Amino acid sequence: MKAIVWHGVGDIRLDDVPDPTIQEPTDAIVRITTSAICGTDLHMIRGTMAGMKPGTVLGHEAVGVVEEVGDAVRGFSPGDRVIVCSTISCGVCPQCRAGNTAQCDVANPNGPAAGTSFFGGPETTGPVNGLQAQYARVPWAQHTLIPVPEAVSDEQAILLSDIFPTAWFGAELAAVKRGDTVAVFGAGIVGQLAIASAFRQGAGRVFAVDGIETRLAQALDQNAEIIDFNAEAPVDAILELTRGAGVDAVIDAVGVDAQRPKSGPAAEQTQEQEPEFQEAQQEVAPETNVQEDQWVPGDAPTLVSQWAVESVAKAGRIGIIGVYSPQLTHYPIGAAMNKNLTVRMGNCNHRAVTPPLIDLVAAGLFDPTRFITQEVGATDALEAYRSFDRREEGWLKTVLDPSA
Ligand SMILES: [Zn+2]
Ligand SMILES: [Zn+2]
Repeated sequence: MKAIVWHGVGDIRLDDVPDPTIQEPTDAIVRITTSAICGTDLHMIRGTMAGMKPGTVLGHEAVGVVEEVGDAVRGFSPGDRVIVCSTISCGVCPQCRAGNTAQCDVANPNGPAAGTSFFGGPETTGPVNGLQAQYARVPWAQHTLIPVPEAVSDEQAILLSDIFPTAWFGAELAAVKRGDTVAVFGAGIVGQLAIASAFRQGAGRVFAVDGIETRLAQALDQNAEIIDFNAEAPVDAILELTRGAGVDAVIDAVGVDAQRPKSGPAAEQTQEQEPEFQEAQQEVAPETNVQEDQWVPGDAPTLVSQWAVESVAKAGRIGIIGVYSPQLTHYPIGAAMNKNLTVRMGNCNHRAVTPPLIDLVAAGLFDPTRFITQEVGATDALEAYRSFDRREEGWLKTVLDPSA
């Protein structure tokens, strides 16, 4: 079968690899009908998420059709249309039963303390071959797969595999409630859906902070109040818009890949403030021979944490869903402590969060497909990765047909 395979930092290829087979009775094989490229995939390619094993198939978002099930999978049979949850969970352990499915005790082959296991990630997360392929082996299939109702199209369902639940989870972490003013940092696809989630969870006002025009335009389409960090200092703007109080809640949908503002007052401020963050970045990004113009890592990994702490109100809440590398140790903890902030974070508990969102889409109450900007076949996937990585204008979400 065809699959997008990680060979090294900055080196991914479309390869012919053997079809996956059932290895455990709890496995299923799924024929992938739609996959997608995600911002998280870029972390593996840039090396900001280290420890990838060469030969690992990339991708952790998919919709497909069950092809074969292991003997212990009782609730699915061949022909069932399914969403594959990005994170793998057994459904039996205490963490799964408490709804913390991203912290399943048994899904990660590295042991119960190893944390989140997901498709197409570094060795510490499995490794489990990913979903940018024609077929995938799904471990703990009974709990990792979710059936898709007919009313939900593949295009809609693909955003329920990771992006929409992650964004929703971000708004939950930030404990968004009726009447809140919320700032969403990052208006990529997760940020866009975080804006939508914050409004649906009751927010009265939502600010969207980003530096890319097309993303800000889409946030504006959702009635968010937009702040371009290349034109104005975002913290100042947020304080001004809230008469100095700050926002009730922040959703950080950026993570480690934060880019410094290119211009404006915020650019000058961050150059002065942040010499130590340069070092932090070097710790997490190994030496590479990657052409710099091709794979550009963020150069201000904790910039958004700082903006979040400064722009939230006293006793406010911060929810972090942007990806931070396990090696990163910086956080503005002093400022957060002295403002009595609540900061919650984590990998989305997909299996627990997703089902009601499927109902929302199936009922026609919310259509996430408006945020899909590109659809490509496997042969064009590598070029799509490059455009996405360069944060080209207009690239928000690329959906992949692995057989095309
Ligand atoms: Zn993703
Ligand atoms: Zn479990």
